Amino acid sequence: MNAHLQALYSLQEVDIEIRQLQRKLQELDPGRVEEAALQAAQTQFQKVNSVTTMTERDLRDAELELQTVETKKKDTEKRLYSGSIRNPKELDSMQHEIDALGRQRSSLDEKILTLMDTFEEHRKAQLEAKQALEQAGLTYQARKKLYQATRNRYENELTQLAQHRQELASDIEDSWMKRYGIWRKQHAGIALSRVIKGDCEACRTSLPLTLVESIAKTDAVAFCENCGRVLVSGLNE
Ligand SMILES: [Zn+2]
Repeated sequence: MNAHLQALYSLQEVDIEIRQLQRKLQELDPGRVEEAALQAAQTQFQKVNSVTTMTERDLRDAELELQTVETKKKDTEKRLYSGSIRNPKELDSMQHEIDALGRQRSSLDEKILTLMDTFEEHRKAQLEAKQALEQAGLTYQARKKLYQATRNRYENELTQLAQHRQELASDIEDSWMKRYGIWRKQHAGIALSRVIKGDCEACRTSLPLTLVESIAKTDAVAFCENCGRVLVSGLNE
């Protein structure tokens, strides 16, 4: 049983936890889907706003045009019935103008009614888009808040783990720390493996009995013949 290896194994457990936590932190979603949904809702709202404004402007233009036509019609009628114009040709032409203005008014009335309907529809869509935008904003904010809280929690845990690692490492001799560093590089972070019931815990290979006994009784550093990891004895009970 090698006490240095046992201490290194405890250190490795903390290192594994640190690595897992760092990975989780990297993979943490800051709310990309919710952010995209918010942007889409903003685009939709702007689009609906712009068509509503355009329809409103068209409606005002048509109403102004109607006023002009009506005024012109009234003025012409006034002149026609005033008795001041006697020329039949002129009277006839005035009557024609009044008729034309009447037709123009009818078609404007129709146009205005259609525009009013369209405007109402746009207003409704505008309200819906506004509500959707507000909702998307709230959803994104909530997601961001959750992300920040989780991130903070992970970062605090990492700080604590780093502190714990520091404490463990300070009790281990430098030469063993160096060896640990080399072994870790060779085995992608997991350099030490416990011997559990005669097996290498990392690769599940059954180890020769003589090897198991040797590392249980002496300080010898032995490696698993299959995965090459350093075997640590005396931690399975
Ligand atoms: Zn192994």
